[in-house]
Amino acid sequence: MKAITVIGAGTMGNGIAHVFAQKGHSVTLVDMSSEALSRATATIEKNLSRLVAKERLTEGEKSDTLARLNTSTDMSASVGNADLVVEAATENLDLKLKIFRELDALAPPNCILATNTSSISITEIASATKRPDKVIGMHFMNPVPIMKLVEIIRGYATSDDTCSETMSLSSALGKSPVEVNDYPGFVANRILMPMINEAIITLNEGVAGVAEIDTVMKLGMAHPMGPLQLADFIGLDICLSIMRVLHDGLGSSKYTPCPLLVNMVMAGKLGAKSGEGFYLHTRGSKEITVSPFFA
Ligand code: NAD
Repeated sequence: MKAITVIGAGTMGNGIAHVFAQKGHSVTLVDMSSEALSRATATIEKNLSRLVAKERLTEGEKSDTLARLNTSTDMSASVGNADLVVEAATENLDLKLKIFRELDALAPPNCILATNTSSISITEIASATKRPDKVIGMHFMNPVPIMKLVEIIRGYATSDDTCSETMSLSSALGKSPVEVNDYPGFVANRILMPMINEAIITLNEGVAGVAEIDTVMKLGMAHPMGPLQLADFIGLDICLSIMRVLHDGLGSSKYTPCPLLVNMVMAGKLGAKSGEGFYLHTRGSKEITVSPFFA
């Protein structure tokens, strides 16, 4: 059993804390917002209850999992004994550099510092520490308790030991870790985001409507969700910021974000989290309808 600290209790942080606690690790979930921590605990409890209802977990295992989970608003008091820290705070370079500078000062020397960033350079984050060999990307997918992949990203200085320990820990969670190198977008978003961007360009050029584009990709390519629905689910602001990372980092015009994507983000149409993107979304319901803007 390892002592794991998860920084950030949002969409990803609660899922990451959930899977580590369920697999027997002692977990401290840290967020500067106590409301975020309450929401995260409620989500973990609800997701564990769902597993009990499906008979994939017993009531006893559920309460043991919750007993292994602590929350805190004080990062400095939560990493002194950690074997592994997984940072899943807001996607912002300056914030992540600040957090890693602090973690480096607070965590034991042998503690691995992992980040769940979708797009920020692991090498740059590692440069904020004096232990770049112990800094690594641990890119879980949303929703974390369900998705099997963990993209393990080696920064320029990440050691073999750090990489193999992170791979083993991920496998022990029941996940399938895949090792990749630190280049813009890594592998998952380098391939996924240009596809989503191309779907938005296809819509913007009037080649087909929202439902038609998503249906072609669902039925034709056996994707569980069309690219426009997936963009809504990820958040259009996140999609835009990843396209900008690809464009800046790789320098090719093929990564230019579609102007429609830029407009939608400026208009606050961010997808599921704002209630409207390519589709209209209602909180707590899985039903979606094409946004009137595109109907
Ligand atoms: P989110 O906005 O849902 O949650 C971020 C949380 O971080 C918030 O609760 C916020 O209060 C907290 N936070 C901000 N600054 C903090 C600090 N200094 N100390 C402690 N907590 C702090 O974000 P998210 O979607 O969970 O994304 C988190 C990370 O995971 C990002 O790096 C993102 O790129 C990455 N990611 C997201 C997804 C996704 O689908 N949402 C998928 C893979 C990776």
